[in-house]
Amino acid sequence: MARTPIVAGNWKMNLGRTPARELLTALKGSLAGIEGVDMAVCPPAPWIGDAADILAGTKIGVGVQNVYWEAQGAFTGEQSAAQLAGVVDYVIIGHSERRHVFGETDEATNKKLKVVLELGMQPMLAVGELREEREGGRTNDVLRRQLLAAFDDISSLPEGFIVAYEPVWAIGTGLTATPEIAQMTCADIRAIVAERYDEDTAANCRIQYGGSANAENAASLMGQPDIDGLLVGGAALQAESFTKICQAAAATR
Ligand code: PEP
Repeated sequence: MARTPIVAGNWKMNLGRTPARELLTALKGSLAGIEGVDMAVCPPAPWIGDAADILAGTKIGVGVQNVYWEAQGAFTGEQSAAQLAGVVDYVIIGHSERRHVFGETDEATNKKLKVVLELGMQPMLAVGELREEREGGRTNDVLRRQLLAAFDDISSLPEGFIVAYEPVWAIGTGLTATPEIAQMTCADIRAIVAERYDEDTAANCRIQYGGSANAENAASLMGQPDIDGLLVGGAALQAESFTKICQAAAATR
């Protein structure tokens, strides 16, 4: 079965309210005619309401960059998955900046993944190796550990489940993985999903590549058989480049 590509923009902690609203409005226009690809933006949490309002009635989904697993309570500064259910469509879980800047553990990604699946939102589960792990030949071990830990006690994955393969050394550095390296690693991820669940689940799983993806390299990355989408940071902050990336993703399927 063909997998619908998914391109998402991770705005990280960028853009004030006015430029965020301008970008959302521009994307509402520029992405309108693109078919055959799921598209989403993940603005900073304060602008989620603006995104939901501006993009209402469009095919552009809204995602958040992080959630907490408890539904409510004395957790200052956190936003719960329960609060976001019905407001957003997608949730990035386990982004490398959460893992490496904020010390998020594999156990935490598992708790987040469970609650997001239970509440019917679409997780984008981010995994990826550090440069020294790749250079030390440990990429597969790291990805296996991150994936199996995230999947702990989760008996099945919904169709179209999204994994974002994001080599940490390629994020925000301008060092994109070559399409060949990205393909090989995404195929390894699919094999780990097959081992943990089954061939059907793996075949339905959508694997994004993320790490300095841009309008110039999107087509060659999307041309790889195991790459089903892109998670885009810097290049998602301009309507023109994000639109070209979505167009490239649509053109490759
Ligand atoms: C990201 O933040 O997930 C990302 C891939 O960033 P960039 O495209 O800027 O490398």
